[in-house]
Amino acid sequence: MDSYDYIIIGAGSAGCVLANRLTEDASVRVLVLEAGGKDNSILVKMPAGVGSLIGNKGTYNWGFWTEDEPNLNNRKLWWPRGKGWGGSSSINGMIYIRGHARDYDQWRQMGLEGWSYRDVLPYFKRSEALEGGGDEWHGGDGPLKVSKASSPNPIFHATVEAGAQAGHPTTKDFNGFQQEGWGPYQMTIHDGERWSAAKGYLHPVMNRPNLTCITGARTSRIVFEGDRATGVEYLNEAGEKVVVNAAREVLLCAGAVQSPQILQLSGIGDPEELAKHGISVVKALKGVGTNLQDHLDVTLSWECPKPITAFSLRKGLIRTLLIGINYTFFKKGLGRQQFLESGAFLKSRPDLDRPDLQIHTVLAVMQNHGKTIIEKDGFTFHVCQLRPESRGRVGLKSADPKDDPAIFANYLSTEEDRRALREGVKMMRKVAAQSALDPYRTNELFPGEAVQTDEEIDAWIRDVAETIYHPVGTCRMGSADDEMAVVDGELKVRGLKGLRVVDASVMPTLVGGNTNAPTIMIAEKAADMIRGKAAPAPDDAPVFDGDLAAA
Ligand SMILES: Cc1cc2nc3c(=O)[nH]c(=O)nc-3n(C[C@H](O)[C@H](O)[C@H](O)COP(=O)(O)OP(=O)(O)OC[C@H]3O[C@@H](n4cnc5c(N)ncnc54)[C@H](O)[C@@H]3O)c2cc1C
Repeated sequence: MDSYDYIIIGAGSAGCVLANRLTEDASVRVLVLEAGGKDNSILVKMPAGVGSLIGNKGTYNWGFWTEDEPNLNNRKLWWPRGKGWGGSSSINGMIYIRGHARDYDQWRQMGLEGWSYRDVLPYFKRSEALEGGGDEWHGGDGPLKVSKASSPNPIFHATVEAGAQAGHPTTKDFNGFQQEGWGPYQMTIHDGERWSAAKGYLHPVMNRPNLTCITGARTSRIVFEGDRATGVEYLNEAGEKVVVNAAREVLLCAGAVQSPQILQLSGIGDPEELAKHGISVVKALKGVGTNLQDHLDVTLSWECPKPITAFSLRKGLIRTLLIGINYTFFKKGLGRQQFLESGAFLKSRPDLDRPDLQIHTVLAVMQNHGKTIIEKDGFTFHVCQLRPESRGRVGLKSADPKDDPAIFANYLSTEEDRRALREGVKMMRKVAAQSALDPYRTNELFPGEAVQTDEEIDAWIRDVAETIYHPVGTCRMGSADDEMAVVDGELKVRGLKGLRVVDASVMPTLVGGNTNAPTIMIAEKAADMIRGKAAPAPDDAPVFDGDLAAA
């Protein structure tokens, strides 16, 4: 049996970081098991390829569906998740956001020492290389390259101006002093290429002799001797079972959907659930798979009278081919952008201590993850609620590791969640009506004039709301007295030895923003903990304390 010091399950955002940081120590042997393949498609590399990756199940996308969603007319929702090197960072929207400083302070208040904003900021900085260099809030020389919005398209600027005209604040940097307001996004794109976790962390170290990466290796269970994880069983490309040994630790990085699935397949979970599938209990941990949180999103679109949005810019086979050729041979043109460079973080009620709505402005008429093609020029405000009260869970459909897990997202199960999204719809209509957008907006396409009252807005939301792809929380961190916690503050699975979970599933609460950078931060911090290295000194970069007038 092959033996390694560490076995990393999943080469996604978190797994790539661990592969890099752990193999800095030449004396340890690390194995990465990834169910998918390599990330060598032009669609992964070219930012404009994102549309084709999100909507289709295939080589790079697991393409899950939720179970019937009771508060969304029993619809099953499409849940793309990345597969292969880079995981979801190889198919994501490339927006670089960390969330609000208070999100991390809240984790500290939940008893998680070392996870306040001051504690985690050094890890965000360590991971990042911001275009133009670092500053008080940003890193300048990390593996994750981050660029600043640069599109000349006037609609991005007009929407920010319209936001200000509607009475909202503006901000220059969502990840700096002040998150709240309208402004430009930063992106994990560099020199016109997607900068996935694989690109930043895995590819540069592939030739280290102490790193082995196996693709097409689908973990079926973690192997235990008593209460110690000693290895991993996986199915290789031929479907044969292979067992590999981990002398020090197994590091589960399969993401918020599949990490809880793998734990349950390995006998770690709620004994009643495991019994339903004939799985023997290794460790009873009722929290596994619970606490699922995600950002639910609706898309409001307006027609644009000018041929300056994705529809006209990419219309027709010849134009599409030219974009591909121009990108492939000269790395120039529209292939370099993902049509999403500005947005906002807003409060749906003035009394909130931080924004609870995020807006992504897209230069296309968007419906149903881009699967429904609308042949019109236009722009879309994606509106999502950042800190839902609703909680879902990830369970098993069967004990077969090749089956998809059962996802119960349970969106909009509280009135506060419904109110926030409804308010977001009203707020975006007000922004779209401002004079700054007069040259770029004609009629409202979605939801359309027929949807006006609160009841009509709620009904429309039930009909069309979709995920904006940020599930977390299914193996949540918690303090020693938290019965439902799956891992402790060092990400060790409670009551077991030699096993940590390191990915988006450990977030106890969903951060107010996109989840790739926070997941990478978690893995950077985990790497220090695994290696027994001291955490860096807390960082005192100032952040906005809620009083815009004083700022
Ligand atoms: C379509 C989409 C758009 C998004 N847009 C953005 C965005 O613009 N900005 C942002 O910040 N965030 C975005 N996100 C979210 C962000 O990318 C994820 O939160 C983050 O990548 C999660 O990292 P992870 O390490 O937890 O899991 P993942 O990156 O999903 O990695 C899990 C890995 O484990 C592998 N795996 C799963 N099961 C097994 C198994 N049994 N055996 C072996 N390997 C296995 C998977 O194939 C995958 O490679 C988006 C996500 C998606 C899906």
